[in-house]
This record gives sequence, C-alpha cells and structure tokens, in this order.
Amino acid sequence: MSLSEPAASASSDVETSFRTCPLCEATCGLSIEHRDGVVTRIRGDRDDVFSKGFLCPKGTVLGKFHEDPDRLRTPLIKRDGVHQPASWEEAFTAIADGLVPALDATERDGGAIYLGNPVVHSLDLLLYSPAITMAMGSKKVFSASTVDQRPRELASGLIYGSSFTIPVPDIDRTSTLLLIGANPMVSNGSLATAPDWPGRINALLDRGGSLIVVDPAHTKTAEKATTHLAPIPGSDALLLAAIATELTATGQHRPVDEDRDALETVVAGLEAFTPDSVAAATGLDAAAIRDVATQLAAAERPCVYARLGTTITPFGTTASWLVDIVNALLGALDAPGGAMFAKNPAGSKNTRGLGPFGKEQTLGRRKTQASGMPIELGEHPVAAMAEEIESGNITALVTVAGNPVLSCPDSHRLDAALEGLAFMVSLDCYLNETTRHANVILPSPSHLQKAHFDVAFGNLAIRNVANYSAPIFPLDDNGLAEWDVAARLASVLGGGAGTAQAAAAVDDAIADRLVRAALDSPQCPEGLSEDQIRVAVGNGHGPERLLDLMLRSGPFGDWFGTSDGLSLEALIEQPHGIDLGALKPRIPEVLMTPSGRPEFAHPSLMGDLGRLASLLDGPTDGLRLINRRTLRSNNSWMHNLEILVKGKPRCTMLMHPSDAKTRGLKNGDFATVSSSVGSVEIAVELDDSLRAGVVSIPHGWGHGVEGTALTVAGRNAGVNVNVLTPTAAIDPLSGTSQLTGFEVEVAPS
Ligand code: SF4
Repeated sequence: MSLSEPAASASSDVETSFRTCPLCEATCGLSIEHRDGVVTRIRGDRDDVFSKGFLCPKGTVLGKFHEDPDRLRTPLIKRDGVHQPASWEEAFTAIADGLVPALDATERDGGAIYLGNPVVHSLDLLLYSPAITMAMGSKKVFSASTVDQRPRELASGLIYGSSFTIPVPDIDRTSTLLLIGANPMVSNGSLATAPDWPGRINALLDRGGSLIVVDPAHTKTAEKATTHLAPIPGSDALLLAAIATELTATGQHRPVDEDRDALETVVAGLEAFTPDSVAAATGLDAAAIRDVATQLAAAERPCVYARLGTTITPFGTTASWLVDIVNALLGALDAPGGAMFAKNPAGSKNTRGLGPFGKEQTLGRRKTQASGMPIELGEHPVAAMAEEIESGNITALVTVAGNPVLSCPDSHRLDAALEGLAFMVSLDCYLNETTRHANVILPSPSHLQKAHFDVAFGNLAIRNVANYSAPIFPLDDNGLAEWDVAARLASVLGGGAGTAQAAAAVDDAIADRLVRAALDSPQCPEGLSEDQIRVAVGNGHGPERLLDLMLRSGPFGDWFGTSDGLSLEALIEQPHGIDLGALKPRIPEVLMTPSGRPEFAHPSLMGDLGRLASLLDGPTDGLRLINRRTLRSNNSWMHNLEILVKGKPRCTMLMHPSDAKTRGLKNGDFATVSSSVGSVEIAVELDDSLRAGVVSIPHGWGHGVEGTALTVAGRNAGVNVNVLTPTAAIDPLSGTSQLTGFEVEVAPS
C-alpha cells in the first residue's frame, strides 16, 4: 500500500474507511462508510484501540462539512471590497504584490500571525505553519493557546522545564477525581485526551470511586458528582491553596522524599490560605473545603485535574501550579491513578531524554509594544492584538484556521482594528467573521481529503496511543493539499515562488531538520547514518514523510529499521491504531529543569502569592459572567452545519431565577448584558441549578455579519460573548485574558 492510499475495506460498492476524528481533543476512532465520494454513514469505530466505538454528535458530521456548499474550494481575492474567486497563481501573486511589500515596509517587524485552534488538529498545519512564521520574519505570533490554555502551559514550563509537559488525569485508574472548572461530559476533555469521558467517569463511579466537581454551574459533569461545590467564579486558586494547607496542617500529605523541601517552601508561602480564610472569597463553607481535602487524602489513588474555568481567570497560572502542588502533596503526581505524563510517540521534546537544562525558566523578558503585556513561550497574548494593530505595531497579518473576531476578547475592537491593516491573508475553510477582512483567502481542503495523525495530543493522552489516518477523498478540482498551500505561502513570504517546486523545497528543509534532530538524539543508535535515514523514509513530499521521520526517531520508533518499533508503515497496517500501553511514571526522565526535579517553588510562582492574597478581601456583589460549552458546538466554526445547530437555540443566557426576578426578567425574555467594553442582547433561560449571582453564555457565536458567507450560521447567529470580554483584565504572568467571572450588568431589553 502506498503512503497516501486510503485505508479502506470494500463491501459491495460501499467502502468503509477508519480514521481518527480531528474535531476535538478526544481523538475518537470513526468508521466512515462512503460511496462515490459521498459519506453515507459515520459511526464510532468499535475496534479503535482508544475510543472503542465512542463518538459524539459532532463526529458524525465530517461528511456534511465536506459537502458544505459554503466551504471554500478556490482562493478568493478581495476586489473593490468583495471577495471574488481566483486561481492559485493569482492568489499567490496578489500575496507577493501585497503582503510582502507590507512586511518589507517595516523590515518585517510589522508582520504578525494568528494560529487558530484547528491548527493543532491538523497534521499539515502543525508541521508546516512554523515555516510560514519563519518566512514572515516576525516575532509577533498569536495563537488560540493564549485565549484559554497558556496559564497551564506556562506553569508546566516553569515547573517541568517544558510547556508540553502537562500532567493528565489517569482517569482509568484513579479512585477519587477532583475536577475543577471542567465539564468533560460535554466538552469531551481538554488538555487531557481521553475518548469517552462519560464512559470513563461512569467506570470510576462503578468501581466505587468518587468524583468531586468544583463548578459554579451544575453541569452535566456535576450531575455525576459524588460531591459538588459551586464556588464564586475565579476563586479556584484560593480553594487549591486552602486544600494544600489543610493537607499539611492535618498531616495528611505524603509527598515523595525528593520533593519534600521544595514543597515545604511552597506550603510555608501558602500559610495565609486556610479553609477558614478563603471561605468568604470562594463562597464555600470551610467545612466543605476540609471535607474535599480529607476525601483526597483518604483516597487510595487521588487525582486533581483542572481546566478552562481555572485558566481563563486573572490567576490562571497560579491555579495551574497549585493543582500540581496538591497532586504532589498527595503523592499523586506521576503516580498511577494520579496526574501523569504521556509519552508522545512523535515529535515531542520531552521524550528524548535530554535531561536537566542548566538554565532556569524566567518570566518577563519580553513585553508587547503598546501596553507591555507579557510575551511568554514565544507568543503575544491575543488580548494585545487589537491595540498592537491600532498602534501601528502590526500592519500585516496572516491568520491560519482561526476566527479571532469571535474567539478573542473585546471582539468589536479587534473587528474594527483588522480593517486598518495594510494587508491580510487567511488560510481557512470559510469566509467568516475574521477572514472577511482578508485581502486573500487560501482555502483548506476538508478533513476527509487529508492525512491525520495527532502529533499534539500525544502529549496529553491518558494512554499512549498512535493512530494514522490516510485521506479518504481526493482533493477538489484544482485543489491543493493543505501542506502544499502552507509551504507555497511560506515560500512566497520568503521571496520565493508559490509553485509546487518551491513547496517541495520548503518540505525538504523541514525534513532536513528532522533528520538532523534524529541524528542528534541521545537515543540514536550508534552507527546509524544520514543516508540510512533518508533511504528508509524515501523522498516523497508531504506530511507523511515528516511523520515517518518523527515516529521512527520517537520513543517507540524502529530507528529506521534498526529495531522493532513504530513507523508509518506499521501504523498503516493497523487502521484502528496501536495501543502503546498505560502511562508509566516518567519523573525525572520527562524533566528539563536545572535541578533535575520539578521546580515546585519557582520564584515566579511563589512571587504571585501576594497578589493572590488580595483576593481574600472577598468579591464585589455584581453579577459574574461565566462561559459554557454545548455538546453540538466546537468554538466558532461548526455552526454552518444544519444538523448541529437545528432545534432549540443554544446561544442563550442561563440565569438563576432569583437574579432574574430582581431584574424583572422571565424565562424567554430578552436581556441586555453590558460590561465595561460592550453589550449584547440575548434570550434568558432560567436555571435554578446555577449559582446565584452568576450568568452563563456560550462562546463562538455572533454570526450573520455582512461580508461573510455562512448561510446556516447566519440563520442561527447567536451573540458574540467576547464583545463583553475586557482585554484589560489579564493574568499578569501569562497575559491570558479573564474570559470568565468578570462583572456584567443585566437589564430587560
Ligand atoms: S468527542 Fe471529539 S473526537 Fe470524539 S467524535 Fe466528538 S468531536 Fe470527534
């Protein structure tokens, strides 16, 4: 079988192909039946080694997306304010004539790139987007990571020496799971790749385990909880600090010996945060906090996992750190059933046994030009994008698979700022709220037209798994592969031509880097030559060769035929994936820190405790807005699929009946919601399970804008919650905006 041939089995004229769902982090295996280029049915792949048949409603729509008439199939160039179809040659010429001079006018300093969430779900974009960034010659990189997960990555960078080294809950073996600010029954997990969270939570409960959920809303996950605490939004760091002090004050902690000194330093710094002292600021009873600490301490295999609700607050980095502190105090960090580290089969720095690094990770070395927001892990915070454009610090922009106008804070301001750019290029599948500002749009093919392998989620999986999916359908007429588009764009931005040969040269350069990385790896077998590697992987262009290089030089690799192990060919032979086993303890091998141990008492983290103490004064009385996920929605980009948006409107504001009553609102009324930066009108849905004083609006909506081409989404527009999100309130360590728990006013419309 050739590398690009679909993995399919024939059954009369219907073919069945198996592939990993690329839509969310759960990475479910799909069984896709198709005939004559049309998907006839999608089901969960029961033989998938990881998901075993599970899928959610979104996974069934890949065929609908492929067929969506609004999906872009040809490049668009904006002429006289209107996007018009163009050839690839015209598109790349327009970029060479427009974007390149705009970049050169500022000696490349005015260029910026925004990488959207789907980039990490695309093998092509993950491998080739860095070439675009490099070719732009600008250090202004924005990504969806700074919308909601940078605090977790930053905490990992400081503690473990790498932002990719993120502990994940070993949910299949834990006995007591504390979930904070996460709703995996609906979201299917984030920064923790586990297909079938519902089944895994049920299994935890069936084996007599406990599920403690901390969330201001009584979510679907909270419905499963054996204990549910509904704190004031944004107070999770206080709660975690109090659990840590309670564990030590009562002698219930059991850290591993090597970390005892560092953890004692941390606990000494947490002295002010006790269940009693944080009770008012968290809105929780001190006794309830003590009970959670006792449940965790009594558990045979406890585990703490926190997600979005904790990271989109002004204390996101500190909360993420404190999650690891509590796990470490419980002896649950890097222990089976606790919070463990995946071993990514391909492309991860933390699997190469690089060992301790001499240099401590520090914060605050770079700041944004306009207002001095922190630039950490090489990226500008999205909160800074509008002001950097307004200030003239960014004059040219490339967006890749992103819709920041809907997903970033203070959206109306960003929407207006984009009009002021000298030139903008988007690589995207839709003419949406963001790409409507682009001078040129380069279309991506559908998921079924490209190969898939989850390079990023191998870092976050709760089991070590590898699964490759070949393209099922050919490219559209005159279509280009996504990697080819990205590589041609990189070539043009670097002053080259947007041709197939130029793309091949970009591809070869990436392959050269991977060959060198393999040869430099401490695990490279003695005597393995560059020629042997090149012969083993061949010279075909595209992502498969690069993936083969990464797999074969990875921790489970066959080292180019010198041993048994993973290769692309081995994966192709196993269309349901290869299970590489349960997670195993990886400290210290996973660490890249100066001490060779986790830097639990990192000065930048300890230094934030004074600011955290200011929260103890307690919250103000206003209504607080929180975010929510719905099962049939995935950020902003799946609302053009009728099957997912039909039925009862999902973009409503949940409100406690007591809050509605004091404002003269009833179920179904329209309310005006205002913040310091904007206002929206939205239907009210009463929900007595929500904490009083909290309202909830989902994100990713706000369609129906002039200049877009999203027929179905336009009919189901909803409102953009990020119109309300202020950019001024950020986590000062990571620059992440406060997207939850900020004050709003609500009045009848
Ligand atoms: S849970 Fe995620 S990966 Fe699984 S089918 Fe749904 S969208 Fe796809």
